[in-house]
Order: sequence, then structure tokens, then C-alpha cells
Amino acid sequence: MGMTSGVSFAKIDGEALPTFAIQPAPHPTPEKERVARLVDPGFGRIFTDHMAIVRYSHANGWHNARVESRANFPLDPATAVLHYAQEIFEGLKAYKRDDGGVNLFRPDANARRFRNSADRMAMAPVPESVFIEAVEQLVRIDRAWIPGGEGSLYLRPFMIASEIFLGVKPSAEYIFAVIASPVGSYFKGGPAPVSIWMSENYTRAAVGGTGAVKCGGNYAASLRAQAEAIDHGCDQVVFLDAIERRYIEELGGMNVFFAFDDGSLATPPLGTILPGITRDSIITLAREAGTVVREEPYTIEQWRADAASGRLKEAFACGTAAVISPIGKVRSASGDFTINGGNAGPVAMGLRKQLVDIQYGRAADSHGWIRQVP
Ligand SMILES: *Cc1c(COP(=O)(O)O)cnc(C)c1O
Repeated sequence: MGMTSGVSFAKIDGEALPTFAIQPAPHPTPEKERVARLVDPGFGRIFTDHMAIVRYSHANGWHNARVESRANFPLDPATAVLHYAQEIFEGLKAYKRDDGGVNLFRPDANARRFRNSADRMAMAPVPESVFIEAVEQLVRIDRAWIPGGEGSLYLRPFMIASEIFLGVKPSAEYIFAVIASPVGSYFKGGPAPVSIWMSENYTRAAVGGTGAVKCGGNYAASLRAQAEAIDHGCDQVVFLDAIERRYIEELGGMNVFFAFDDGSLATPPLGTILPGITRDSIITLAREAGTVVREEPYTIEQWRADAASGRLKEAFACGTAAVISPIGKVRSASGDFTINGGNAGPVAMGLRKQLVDIQYGRAADSHGWIRQVP
């Protein structure tokens, strides 16, 4: 069926896909404790009772799909992912609607991106239906963990190379899993503008590299620059292109937009940046509202000049976790500048509200972005 060298995986799409065996946790978290943990969950430290897991081997294709108690993975020390970082992930959220229903936002886009990531990392592609089914089954069994209000259940699908082998080649075995973590409102009392550090020493992605896919290695490589940002009193790092070191690319884990005094928006073009689903949604909503949105390169010199002249009204970062974060201040070795007096502006806040209202089911979903979990 498959091969053990090169990049060739069992033909998956025409095949019978695994159905998930549901094995509820025998000892789920008692309700009282769960409720207490949901009061102020923070981000990424609290987890639900279950996980979804599916295995891949060349011999069996995708198989052994289960939803079961969240538990450790026993990994042999020679498991491929521990050595060569063949790993990819996704991030999306489940939102509680006022009527008690549960919304997922564009999970099909995450499933598609996961396949693209798998392809770039020479990993077995997870069928989009299996990806969505795993997410839905987990949300269904752990729905009591979805916080109310502006909270949500952050879902983390990921895949690791699980073959036990130290040779450098695409793994012949994979584990695809989904875990879930309740998260509070990212910002209490409205989004606080972030300060960002412009990295002149480090780059995130080069043409032909892995910048456009969601692999753990990209994050590992960004941590030194992020640490530099913290050392300079900033919240986040913004990366420049690897060739000319002038063009704005994106933050460590968020895309970036610029809002101008003529009402237009600009955002860096796709290529080496991660194609954010939030980015794409913002472009769609803005264009529908008649806003001119340019996907074009923008230099740091121009950013600085436009902030000084007032041509630039706002800048903001966007991604699933925080939706939209206004950028109040930019620091770099060659000087600092502020945007919009360091404050959140109406463009960022308006788009944020529009998106969040769709996600929670408070506004009409005219794009088919919402998938209600039955
Ligand atoms: C995930 C991610 C984003 C944001 O993507 P969304 O689909 O909007 O959550 C942006 N940049 C990087 C590097 C990312 O990993």
C-alpha cells in the first residue's frame, strides 16, 4: 500500500474511513471541580477529560479512531518526532451560543490547512472528514467544559511522527490527536493594545521553507526572538522578510493589518507567512463592507513614516486565540514609534466585534463559516 522511503502514503480518500469508538472517561472531573476550574481558566493550562486519537501506518492507513480519557502517550525514546520534529498542529475554538448550542468557526479551513501542513512536512494527510469528526466528537463529549460568556473551548488538533527509527526520512507511522482546553476571554475589559519588538537579528521564514505551514518547528525557532521581545519590555515579536530584512511579515503567531487614513487596509501577501483563517475572514468582511484591502508588501521604513505622518491610523494583529489585538507601540534597535497614540482604534474594534458576533452566533452567518455541533 505505502512505501517506506520517499513520500508516498496509502491512498486515503477512496477508502473506508475509521469510525470513532467512544469510550467515556470512567472517572471524569467532578462537576464542582470543573466549574471551579472554568472560573478563570487562563490559556492552555487546563484540559478537558477526553481526547480524540487516530493512528496511521502504511499497512493499515488511518485506523483505531477513538475518543477516550485524556492520557499520556507512551513514546519510545527513538520515536521520530522527538528527533526530527516532524510535527504539525492546528488551533480552532468551540463557542457556546446563547441558545445553548455550540459553534465551530470554519473547521473545514483548519482541516484543509492541516492537509497542506502535512504535505509540506511529508506526513500522512488526515482526511478532512476525519479531522472534523475528531473535533466534533471531542466537543460533544466535553461540551460541559465550554465556558460561558466570552470564553471558549480551544481545540488543538496535532499530528506527530510516531515511527521508532532514527533514520532521516518521512515516518511510516503517525498519531493524529485532538485535545481541548477551556480558555477565558483573552482580554478582560476589551483588548489592550500590545507592544511589539521588531526583530533585526532573527527571521521566521524564507522562500521554500516552512513559514506557510503550522509546524511546531516554526515556533521553536521563534522563541529566541520572542524572548528578545520580552527583554525589551514588549509583548510580541514582529518578523521581517529573510532576504531584504525590510518587509513586515507577521508576529510569532499572528498575522498583521494596517489601517490608513483613506479608509483602506493593507496586509502582507501570502507566501512565507502563515495563511491565517482570521486574516482571510477579516479580508472578506472588510471587502464586503466596501473597504479596499491590499495584500501587498509593506516596509518597516514606510510603517514608521506613516505612523509619524498620521497616514497610518491603526495597526493590529489577528489570530484565533486573541481574534484581533491592536498594536499600540513598535520598538526596535533603531528607535520606537507609537500608533494611534498607543490606543485601540475603531477599525480594529469594529472588525473584532463583527467576527466575534458571528463566532458566538449573535450575527447572521452569511458565509457558511459556522458549523453547529449537533
Ligand atoms: C496560527 C497562526 C496564525 C493565525 O492563524 P489563524 O488561522 O487566524 O488562527 C498566524 N501566524 C502564525 C505563525 C500562526 O501559526
